Amino acid sequence: MKGQGPKDVILMHKYGDCSFCGGEVKEERVELDYRYKEKLYIFQNVPSGVCQQCGEKYLTAEVAKKIEHKILTKGKWGKTLAVPVEVFTEGAAA
Ligand SMILES: [Zn+2]
Repeated sequence: MKGQGPKDVILMHKYGDCSFCGGEVKEERVELDYRYKEKLYIFQNVPSGVCQQCGEKYLTAEVAKKIEHKILTKGKWGKTLAVPVEVFTEGAAA
C-alpha cells in the first residue's frame, strides 16, 4: 500500500464475520468515500458488506478493483462536489 486505496474499508474476498466485533456482515448498497491519490471520490449504490452490529464496511477485492478502474478510466462524473478541508494545526485543538 502506498497511501492509496480505501482508508476506512477493509478488503476481503468473501464477507465473513466482522473482524472487529464478530457481528454478521451483510451485503448492502452503500455510499462510499474512496480516497485515491489525494483525491476523494464518492461512489453511491456500491455493493458492500456492512457489519450489522458496528457498521464497519467491507469491500470485496473485486468491487475495489472496479472502483479503481472507474477512477482511472472515467472521464465524466455524474456530479462533482467541492469538499471543504481544514487542517488542524498544533495547538488549535486546545
Ligand atoms: Zn462489527
